[in-house]
Amino acid sequence: MLLENKVAIITGAGSGFGRATAELYANEGAKIVAVDFNEEAVQETVQVIQDKESEAIAVTADVSKDADVKNFIQKAIDTYGQIDILFNNAGVYAPGTVEETDIEDWNHSLDVNITALFLASKYAIPHLKESKGNIINTASAGGIIGFPDAISYAATKGAVLSFTRAMAVDYAEEGVRVNAICPGTGETGMTKDLLEVDDIYQGFISPIPMKRLGKPDDIAYAALFLGSDQASYITGHALPVDGGWTMS
Ligand code: ADP
Repeated sequence: MLLENKVAIITGAGSGFGRATAELYANEGAKIVAVDFNEEAVQETVQVIQDKESEAIAVTADVSKDADVKNFIQKAIDTYGQIDILFNNAGVYAPGTVEETDIEDWNHSLDVNITALFLASKYAIPHLKESKGNIINTASAGGIIGFPDAISYAATKGAVLSFTRAMAVDYAEEGVRVNAICPGTGETGMTKDLLEVDDIYQGFISPIPMKRLGKPDDIAYAALFLGSDQASYITGHALPVDGGWTMS
């Protein structure tokens, strides 16, 4: 098992990439602190893990709220005594160009997609320094290419990449690695409604060389590698998991 005796905090663990990663990490021996603001969904994730005799706790939190973040970091320490992996994965997608995006949607994207990473990293870093742990941030292919019709998403995911690089450099000497994963379009809660419209579905598929969308497990396996000691010489990187989209 790749994550035996590791403790992993996973945000957005109620759905999609976060849930798949929580389940895979638990199968690989990690103890999971599953965080989401959807209480029912995150309880469900934890139930699936506990049914397989692995260890997990659910914490309901808004990752963009300072007090909530402090609370889930503290819960991890109180329950398991250490933090080895912080997977900053919760995120929101708001469609719209600059003209179509209102200031509320813009600010909400900033809060959840980037400020939340700052808060969780800030409160987790003392514990990660102790464990020589690592952080994985969910960015997006949309942070690399000129991603259309979702300006707040593209801008905040670009910020995730520079946040990842800068933090990686700041903490490399202290033994804490920081990497990002850049999913292409995935079959998750975020895209569920959009993908039901055939034209939109075809529009998502057409630029992807592998001609399929990403599955939650595609991301989970990338997060498993980056989170494990097998990736111990990799920091500051953004790993696209996108069927070749950003290469085309
Ligand atoms: P994806 O897996 O593609 O990122 P999903 O919508 O399936 O998309 O999963 C995102 C998860 O993040 C959801 O479970 C959602 O409840 C969670 N989430 C979104 N915003 C917040 C927030 N502010 N605080 C905590 N969790 C959040």
